[in-house]
Amino acid sequence: MPTGEKKEVIFQGISGAPGICIGKAYMVGREGVDVIPQYTISQDQKTREITRFKTAVRTAKNELLEIIEATPEALKEHIQILETHLVLFKDKMLYGRTLEAIERENVNAEWALKNVVAEVRAMFQDIEDPYLQGRSTDIVHVSDRIMRNLVGAKEESISSISKRVILVASDISPAQTSQIQLEWVMGFVTDHGGTASHTSIIARTLGIPCVLGLGDATSSLHNDDIIIVDGIAGRVIVHPEDNTLLLYEEKKRRFEEHRASISRSSHLPAISADGMEFQVLGNIELAEEVVSVRDHGGNGIGLLRTEFLYLSRNNFPGETELFEQYREVLELMAPAPVTFRTLDINGDKAISYTLTPEEANPALGLRAIRFCLKKKEVFKTQLRAILRAAAYGNAQIMFPMISCLEEVREARKLLRACAKELAGEEKRHNPEIPVGIMIEVPSAVVMADVLAREVDFFSIGTNDLVQYLLAIDRGNPQVAHLYNSLNPAVLRMLKRIVDEADKAGISVAMCGEMAGDPFHLPVLMGLGIRELSMNPQSIPAIKDMIRNMEGHECRLFTESLLEKSQTQEVMDAISLKYGKFMQTDFV
Ligand code: PEP
Ligand code: MG
Repeated sequence: MPTGEKKEVIFQGISGAPGICIGKAYMVGREGVDVIPQYTISQDQKTREITRFKTAVRTAKNELLEIIEATPEALKEHIQILETHLVLFKDKMLYGRTLEAIERENVNAEWALKNVVAEVRAMFQDIEDPYLQGRSTDIVHVSDRIMRNLVGAKEESISSISKRVILVASDISPAQTSQIQLEWVMGFVTDHGGTASHTSIIARTLGIPCVLGLGDATSSLHNDDIIIVDGIAGRVIVHPEDNTLLLYEEKKRRFEEHRASISRSSHLPAISADGMEFQVLGNIELAEEVVSVRDHGGNGIGLLRTEFLYLSRNNFPGETELFEQYREVLELMAPAPVTFRTLDINGDKAISYTLTPEEANPALGLRAIRFCLKKKEVFKTQLRAILRAAAYGNAQIMFPMISCLEEVREARKLLRACAKELAGEEKRHNPEIPVGIMIEVPSAVVMADVLAREVDFFSIGTNDLVQYLLAIDRGNPQVAHLYNSLNPAVLRMLKRIVDEADKAGISVAMCGEMAGDPFHLPVLMGLGIRELSMNPQSIPAIKDMIRNMEGHECRLFTESLLEKSQTQEVMDAISLKYGKFMQTDFV
């Protein structure tokens, strides 16, 4: 492939979806929403301006409804994302505040909307939680659609592309992503977004490579530039030299071969080469994702993060609404198990309507079980919904952020009280639901022997456990290089948790990110953690690795790791012994 005289340039971003593609860039613009007219309006023009705004919102909403209708079958499970956008059109933060701004500041609708969106972005700017960052991006996408209607611009239609290209954009909205035709679009790259953004979720569903978070790199690209998207390493290579092209053609071939082989075997059981059986489950946030867990060969749902049903709304959901959602998940997954993690809000997942005072250290504040034990009515509504849904499938319940025995006892007492109420009301429910706790606070590890006698299972939440054990904010990029689940202190904690669970005869699972990372797998197998729950897309690769490894060998290896005193030594030992099993071979 001729590359002309242009010099090869490499941009590093974030891996949004794995895979490699090579092709021509197709620049997707944000026409109509970058240059906004500003003018003041008189008192009697206000009504007209408000009507213009409302009409633009209505048209934008109808456009989105049409897109939802036309969304291909393969993406139906992500329709929820677009439906969240429908709700946002009338969100107080966007709709209400823009109307207020027109009234108060005597400005045209475009300018009022632009300022409101800038305020919302500023509000979210310092929040590290990728989910909330995603919410802010959703608001921008929705407002762009309203804005285009106000200024009379057209959205670039990705669905009309009819040549093989790689999309390049500052950002791509989920609505645009859902119009991608796999026949023509090989992959895409954007300046914005992160691993947890909706755009990358959709890219993973489509199975096309994508690199996000390139800063402003895409501004230096042009239509028809030859680019390589390395979605595994999160890298984009522009104007590749001939030898780079050859190298990547080969990587692409190997990656595709490997992916085809692991997906062919994803429904086989995860039994190690020496006969140990593992359960590989999925972590999900929404009922729609059950399909993805099943498609990727998951043995159930090891973590249902229930707080997501509480976001993007203005008040707490009621029992019936929760019950129906939970029942749907259980019925779709049956007879496989579903573990409901009770509400883990506040901390990094703040909800505006909780009306709890601002905290200096939210991660150490009124979060998760602490919030629920304080707001008992909110908690009981959820417990009742879970108990009722549990009559329709294989449900387990677990409490997050447990730090002492008192919390477990109080939570269980409330659960019993809810079961009793339901029995009194003659409502169908399952009072025998297994009860577990998440182990994610170091004090719970210290007290693991005591706690193990009170519950049916432990589930290790390494995302928080590492944060609290090493005193490293999990969302702070300044200290991200210190955040490592292979720190010897973490390994010793994990060993203690497993040992105490074994002594008490209860099961132990892991549902933190550590569980889905191939590099950590030999250690987790070696520690004897037989249940691993992860992002559904990671399931096939982890199952494949389990089948190729020997449990008893991992055990001996992990014993030697527990003697190490530095993180780097642990990592070097894993690379040396198990590097050959890792997908990173392709990078
Ligand atoms: C964890 O802390 O590891 C966990 C799974 O919970 P979350 O990431 O939702 O805090
Ligand atoms: Mg957690």
